[in-house]
Amino acid sequence: MPFTSNRAFKARPRMVARAKDMYYYTPEGRPVMDGTAGLWCSNAGHGRDPIVQAIQKQAAELDFAPSFQYGHPKAFELASRIAALAPADLDHVFFCNSGSEAADTALKIALAYWNVRGKGSKTRLIGRERGYHGVGFGGITVGGIVPNRKFFGSLLAGADHLPHTYNREEQRFSVGEPEWGAHLADELERIVALHDASTIAAVMVEPMAGSTGVLPAPKGYLKRLRELCTKHDILLIFDEVITGFGRLGHAFASERYGVTPDLLTFAKGVTNATAPMGGVIARKEIHDTFMTGPAHVVELFHGYTYSAHPLACAAGLATLDLYRDEGLFERAKTLEPLWAEAVMSLKTKPGVLDIRQVGLTAAVDFEGRKDAVGKRGYDALEHAFHEEGLMIRTAGDAIVLTPPLIVTESQIAEMVEKAGRVIEATA
Ligand code: PMP
Repeated sequence: MPFTSNRAFKARPRMVARAKDMYYYTPEGRPVMDGTAGLWCSNAGHGRDPIVQAIQKQAAELDFAPSFQYGHPKAFELASRIAALAPADLDHVFFCNSGSEAADTALKIALAYWNVRGKGSKTRLIGRERGYHGVGFGGITVGGIVPNRKFFGSLLAGADHLPHTYNREEQRFSVGEPEWGAHLADELERIVALHDASTIAAVMVEPMAGSTGVLPAPKGYLKRLRELCTKHDILLIFDEVITGFGRLGHAFASERYGVTPDLLTFAKGVTNATAPMGGVIARKEIHDTFMTGPAHVVELFHGYTYSAHPLACAAGLATLDLYRDEGLFERAKTLEPLWAEAVMSLKTKPGVLDIRQVGLTAAVDFEGRKDAVGKRGYDALEHAFHEEGLMIRTAGDAIVLTPPLIVTESQIAEMVEKAGRVIEATA
């Protein structure tokens, strides 16, 4: 099983068999409130009729179209809709099937871009400690989660990493973006001094590192990174696989922070997780470089059989309609202060070391518990939540809460009450 302690699962499996709106149901029919939007992806909740119907209709109409050398209308329609949500001149979309594929696709576009522009020496990729960009070789190379890297050999050559942005002493119980930490972007200057900008293709970061326990970008950090990338002619890639489609109260976090990357990756929420899909949005100038490049560059030599799969495109279009019609991005923004206050109330529970929040996300850090969190020892804690009827995720030494954006005020209260009970019972 992916990222699962198979031994623990075998001993004590957690199964769900059905889902509707804010709830999963076990095979026995017991409801479990979805505190995690699945895996940060079911932003409109589960079993939403318009999406179900769109997928059914599409399966009957056009089940598949070859993605190489053929197109189909819904692929272009969805690309246009996504581009319209993206900032400024990010107006061309390349589809793939997951966040991991999106990360590797973005890195490959960056490398090819410099190559086409006659700057083939720009190949170095810069990521960040505690970053997660999926599990492809590009993603784990720029990623900064040690166990995800260390079992898999020497990875791609020529990568370097910015420091992560978390500092408990300086940022404890920060609501939204921490005040401290913008200066950490200046570490890029050190990396440039070491390797020279002529060898660096791209910097890739998440606006909020999700998988390592909700680490929001400090105030001013992303702006500074943008300035430095522009100054040194380095492409900036935002991984918005989690932050895209409303999680931080905007279509994309780039909008929240007023910072436009050159390439932006998305996945998860684009189809409300009903069909696998990911993608990369590129600046017009990057797209046009390929369109007008030398004659031997007739295409981007990259793609997947299931790029822009018709079922995923239909699901994506119905999902974007639903997000718009129910105003879910705006809803996340409106709920944010109430959400922040609710999760911060867990401060006083036993063993809580820190709580971080941004948008409709939160992480609660614990001091070491013998059977609870960290080092894959968190099964007991996850199980206790499951028994309580609340699905959470653990990340390092934290539990993470990221509910669907349809969550109501009373469900937020219920979620936090349940969390408080489990934290006390397992202390
Ligand atoms: N990037 C980020 C920021 C993610 O959070 C994830 C998944 N959690 C991925 C990439 C990888 O996505 P997938 O699991 O769809 O490959």
